[in-house]
Amino acid sequence: MAGRVEEEEEKAVFDAEAAGALVKELRGTFSSGKTRSYEWRVSQLKSLLKLCDENENEIAGALRQDLSKPELETIVYEVGMLKNSCRVALKELKHWIAPEKAKTSLTSFPSSAQILPEPLGVVLIISAWNYPFLLSLDPLVGAIAAGNAMVLKPSEIAPATSSLLSKLLLKYLDSSAIRVIEGAVAETTALLEQKWDKIFYTGNGRVGRIVMAAAAKHLTPVLLELGGKSPVVIDAGINLQVATRRIIAGKWGCNNGQACISPDYIITTNDYAPKLVDTLKTELERFYGKTPLESKDLSRIVNSNHFARLTKLLDEDKVSGKIVYGGARDKENLKIAPTILLDVPRDSLIMNEEIFGPLLPIILVNKIEESFDLINSGTKPLAAYLFSNNKKLKEQFVMSVSAGGLLINDTALHLAVETLPFGGVGESGMGAYHGKFSFDAFTHKKAVLYRSLVGDAVIRYPPYTTGKMRL
Ligand code: NAD
Repeated sequence: MAGRVEEEEEKAVFDAEAAGALVKELRGTFSSGKTRSYEWRVSQLKSLLKLCDENENEIAGALRQDLSKPELETIVYEVGMLKNSCRVALKELKHWIAPEKAKTSLTSFPSSAQILPEPLGVVLIISAWNYPFLLSLDPLVGAIAAGNAMVLKPSEIAPATSSLLSKLLLKYLDSSAIRVIEGAVAETTALLEQKWDKIFYTGNGRVGRIVMAAAAKHLTPVLLELGGKSPVVIDAGINLQVATRRIIAGKWGCNNGQACISPDYIITTNDYAPKLVDTLKTELERFYGKTPLESKDLSRIVNSNHFARLTKLLDEDKVSGKIVYGGARDKENLKIAPTILLDVPRDSLIMNEEIFGPLLPIILVNKIEESFDLINSGTKPLAAYLFSNNKKLKEQFVMSVSAGGLLINDTALHLAVETLPFGGVGESGMGAYHGKFSFDAFTHKKAVLYRSLVGDAVIRYPPYTTGKMRL
């Protein structure tokens, strides 16, 4: 009991002064060189794996509490993906940390050169609520692999996971170098006032701007993992059953649409839309039944603010009569059924903000090629998807659409390919991570040139005679 009171007090006084003291302590650890050793990095990565293996039930329980997240989604997308990141880092670490030999030029002859990966120092990771376990610990894998000290600030909107992370990291990881600070705006603001060597932020663009402005004061580099409206272009003549299943998996099967790379809206042709809607309906009903509000395989909406935000999008006059499937909601249990809206006006609210929930509007065009200009006329999305068998259309899509990542004939899966960088462009973010890109995100590539004191060329020294210019 006394311990809990002290803990509460400690949480209550986390202000800029406390944040400053924490950073100072972590700088001390970093300066000692402890986190740079290969052995330390390996031991922390192995402990993270152990944390996952020994606490699956608790992790799934926390996510159930925060989001009613189905256990399979937690085990596969949160725990499984994190374990994969740890394994990749453990397997590749020796290569990643090895100095890279660089070619030298005549100007520096004789010399040799290398690029030395160097940890940045003390870094801050701020994460979001929708994948609160993975989005907290996946960046941490990169920061550990790169040899940094760090603070993790999980999202207060997923409080059970935040508190579990705080408990588990203290138990499994080296708290002289890795700390968790729980809290909301006040605590994050206190942290943001400090000088960090990198800030890794996952969340919305409004807060992204706050993070970037705070970082600018100290010239701290930032990596911003933001969101946006990720479109799905659907060409005619495809296997609609497979396509719609893959759309459902990436939309409702990913936290009921509360995922950064969830399909946000569909673009298809007037002619193809009826067939598409019919197949979507059939497959949705197959997966979630006739009363999806009761399905155990769908997450709930995270809180009442987000529930109100989503119902406002559905209730706008401009979209009245556009719902062709779903629309049911349960305010008390924060549930919204998978909902499809057809032929939605482009100036409606739902088409002008990231949906981040189970609503899927369909926009109609006359010719599928018009889709690309439509996408490019908005802000750059985090992901863009195309379903098509047409080689030329695929090429056109790849060449003309700008997004964080592109995926053809599926949704969301590119995120699981660790050899691909994951990150946004423009309003969907800056920088990328996953696999080696996570290591790079927390590493400075130090250029080192070795010269010998033999063979000095006189040309670089004054007097600068014209004769020397002709040499
Ligand atoms: P959120 O509300 O959990 O906020 C993210 C973090 O910002 C939290 O840790 C929170 O404490 C902090 N924060 C909130 N307000 C703040 C303030 N005023 N000052 C300082 N810190 C503050 O999450 P969210 O923003 O609702 O997350 C959803 C958004 O994140 C969506 O746009 C989604 O697309 C995006 N997202 C992106 C990725 C990605 O990998 N690119 C992943 C998940 C979510």
